Amino acid sequence: KPSGRQPGRHFLHIPGPTNVPDRVLRAIDNAILDQRGPAFGKFSLALQEKVRRVFKTTQPVIMFPSSGSGAWEAALVNTLSPGDAVLMCRVGWFATLWYEMARRLGLEPILIETDWRRGADVEAIAEQLRRDGAHRIKAVCMVHNETSTGVTSRVDEVRAAMDAAGHPALLMVDTISSLASIDYRHDEWKVDVCIGGSQKGLMLPAGLSFTAVSAKALAAQKTARLPRAYWDWQAMLDNNATGYFPYTPATNLFYGLDVAIDMLEEEGLDNVFARHDRHAEATRRAVRAWGLETQCAEPRHYSSTVTAVRVPDGHSADALRASILERSNMSLGNGLGPLKDKVFRIGHLGDLGDLQMIGVLGGVEIGLRQCGIPHKPGGVQAAVDFLAGNA
Ligand code: PLP
Repeated sequence: KPSGRQPGRHFLHIPGPTNVPDRVLRAIDNAILDQRGPAFGKFSLALQEKVRRVFKTTQPVIMFPSSGSGAWEAALVNTLSPGDAVLMCRVGWFATLWYEMARRLGLEPILIETDWRRGADVEAIAEQLRRDGAHRIKAVCMVHNETSTGVTSRVDEVRAAMDAAGHPALLMVDTISSLASIDYRHDEWKVDVCIGGSQKGLMLPAGLSFTAVSAKALAAQKTARLPRAYWDWQAMLDNNATGYFPYTPATNLFYGLDVAIDMLEEEGLDNVFARHDRHAEATRRAVRAWGLETQCAEPRHYSSTVTAVRVPDGHSADALRASILERSNMSLGNGLGPLKDKVFRIGHLGDLGDLQMIGVLGGVEIGLRQCGIPHKPGGVQAAVDFLAGNA
């Protein structure tokens, strides 16, 4: 049994926070800038422009010094009024948390249930919208990539369903575990509010949230009556126009963000997405070779950033994760809510290369064997074959 120091680098493969590249760490490690001085204003205006490119938008992107949940709250309180109906699809744990938040803020969510094994039910959303001739539903809220299940919903299809129904609701999308890893097109898909966080595809520590807003969302703000103070978008937008912030911005995270976007653009955003697709496919091939099942049961909804793997009945996913942490110095994600102890989650997003991916799958295969979880050997080999182009 290993004891004390664990040699080698820790493998952080939870689905976020992700590994922060050394270049980004070095950028964060710089002297604090006066957030009201001329140099900061210039820097921040250029940074806002870069952030818009990540969302594929020409519209404003607001940056709160908060985790992603703060941006969720801001999205709801800036656009909605007490008692407004919002349509939500419960695809997993994070969709559930957003639903709970809407309820606590005094909204009336209409919830479409799923089996947590596939993406948002576009037909059920379309049906609800068609039945809502009085336009009681003010927003459709969806989680692009459900981190608890490894399921990616189709934003383009939900948009098309809203257009087909001629429904004027706002479309709000959580891209916390997809932004800068899975293609997202804010303007093309006519999304009204899109929420992101710094700690996943953007390869930064937690502490910055992003909110891309449309003109329609900004218009809704004029009549929305939920109380808002700190989360008021308008104070941010007014100050951001000249490069400043109404309260202290996370200046050193901005340095890191500036470099992280440089790195994404040097690689090319489309290449970044393709790399995530490839590592996700390598992971699924390993899971299949082990004879295990992914939580996502719908191939069209497979996530390119996280794979949740079901352990056979009678076995503990948490005991497996604990063993892998102790013996192989690797952190994997746990099962959330009803999936507790039933799945483990492999995060394959952010700053990740082929060899790291093979190491992750090697650690899982060692763990499966040591914990006596029924499986077939050969998962790592299947991933190597795929990555080598021989699959
Ligand atoms: N939404 C999704 C899809 C997430 O993955 C997370 C966190 O992992 C959240 C929301 C909550 O974000 P945060 O923890 O940054 O507040």
